[in-house]
Amino acid sequence: MSFTLAIVGRPNVGKSTLFNRLVGKRLALVDDQPGVTRDLREGEARLGDLRFTVIDTAGLEDATDDSLQGRMRRLTERAVDMADVCLFMVDARAGVTPTDEVFAEILRKRSAHVILAANKAEGSAADAGVIEAYGLGLGEPIRLSGEHGEGLNDLYSQLMPIADDFAERAAEHAPETEVTVDDEADFDEDGEEIAGAPAPTAAKPLQVAVVGRPNAGKSTLINKILGEDRLLTGPEAGITRDAISLRIDWDGTPMRIFDTAGMRKKAKVQEKLEKLSVSDGLRAVKFAEVVVVLLDAAIPFEQQDLRIADLAEREGRAVVVAVNKWDIEDQKQEKLRDLKEAFERLLPQLRGAPLVTVSAKTGRGLDRLHDAILRAYDVWNRRVSTARLNRWLTGMLEQHPPPAPQGKRIKLRYMTQAKTRPPGFVVMCSHPDKMPDSYSRYLVNGLRQDFDMPGTPIRLTLRSQS
Ligand code: GDP
Ligand code: GDP
Repeated sequence: MSFTLAIVGRPNVGKSTLFNRLVGKRLALVDDQPGVTRDLREGEARLGDLRFTVIDTAGLEDATDDSLQGRMRRLTERAVDMADVCLFMVDARAGVTPTDEVFAEILRKRSAHVILAANKAEGSAADAGVIEAYGLGLGEPIRLSGEHGEGLNDLYSQLMPIADDFAERAAEHAPETEVTVDDEADFDEDGEEIAGAPAPTAAKPLQVAVVGRPNAGKSTLINKILGEDRLLTGPEAGITRDAISLRIDWDGTPMRIFDTAGMRKKAKVQEKLEKLSVSDGLRAVKFAEVVVVLLDAAIPFEQQDLRIADLAEREGRAVVVAVNKWDIEDQKQEKLRDLKEAFERLLPQLRGAPLVTVSAKTGRGLDRLHDAILRAYDVWNRRVSTARLNRWLTGMLEQHPPPAPQGKRIKLRYMTQAKTRPPGFVVMCSHPDKMPDSYSRYLVNGLRQDFDMPGTPIRLTLRSQS
């Protein structure tokens, strides 16, 4: 557990530059064009031996109109509320502006713990601005140059006591606040399953990746979900530095959505984004619990869509297929029938996965998508008791006995669910190496149907026990 630092200040003072320096690796998707970064990004920062979470509030264009002022205020307040300490940054070269005063006031009102930084302070051109910054009434400013890495020692000295304090408090509260997730523990005495999926919480939001070809509508979809109340977080340090994740509360469900590029529409960065999107997609799939494969209704199930859906299956993720741009379909009934047929034919490995039609543009169908994600997550977490499984296995064997290669019948003796997320089953049997795939498929399909596990990858392992 570490503390959270929010970097706040008006646009262009150098927040992203410092963020990138603290997070370590220059983020591929950050650019100095206004509007390129999203509203809030989050990353794991390192400064000397300190490790902490840093939130960047960059991404707003110059606050020239009232609504932007309002947004900036809300965003800053939000960051302040999320953080243990704020780094309030001003531009020492530009001097203190009226907008800086607005920020200072927000920070005072929220009684935030503030560290004041006069940035771009390399060289003497900044001297006057540093002195002006004293006038904000927030204590002595640190002379900082995020770009040149100057003043970081002073920042370190100010953060040190906060880190210590935080570690102490965390240690005191550890027993009550610790969150453990034990997915082996959902049984009553009879070994019957009790609960389904562990509910997503703020501490452990449901991890969702939205993947799909460029132009499928990923950005539009995510923006629609976020609505006005968007809250963006950045790269998961140590996990995926390039994929962007957003922490949101979607109709009451805490989620972390991995957005795979697409978000930024600036022509200049487009090329860079195209290149990134493939590897980003792969990474997002690896860290997602539920993968939403977003298709364009006009060109569904292209090679690229199939590849990513297959990858999600192979990685053992729960999959939801969402068909976008449904607003422009006029033969909806026929189209849906065709889509379902194509889905079964082209992605048999995802049999039963939900297929929902949406319009990212109008927002239609988003409630269904939300529910499909939760259901897929639930199925992915499903656990079947050993007692039920073996009763079921007996029935399956009677209905369709296993084969007898070279006259020796393969004996399936016992079955148990070894894991969830996705569900994995182990069957103890004689001669597992002789078991034909068709029989394994018979069992997997049976499991899927009889225990209501549509759409989730099901792993079946045969283990020798003669
Ligand atoms: P943000 O909008 O607050 O996130 O600001 P950026 O980090 O995007 O920086 C805005 C501009 O200021 C960019 O052109 C940066 O290169 C420049 N900049 C950032 N830090 C420094 C610094 O320490 N010194 C100087 N001279 N320029 C900087
Ligand atoms: P991305 O590359 O997957 O992020 O796709 P975008 O979100 O940028 O969308 C690509 C294009 O499709 C844009 O012109 C969007 O306006 C359009 N689009 C996205 N969703 C819809 C939708 O539901 N209906 C319609 N008609 N157009 C959409």
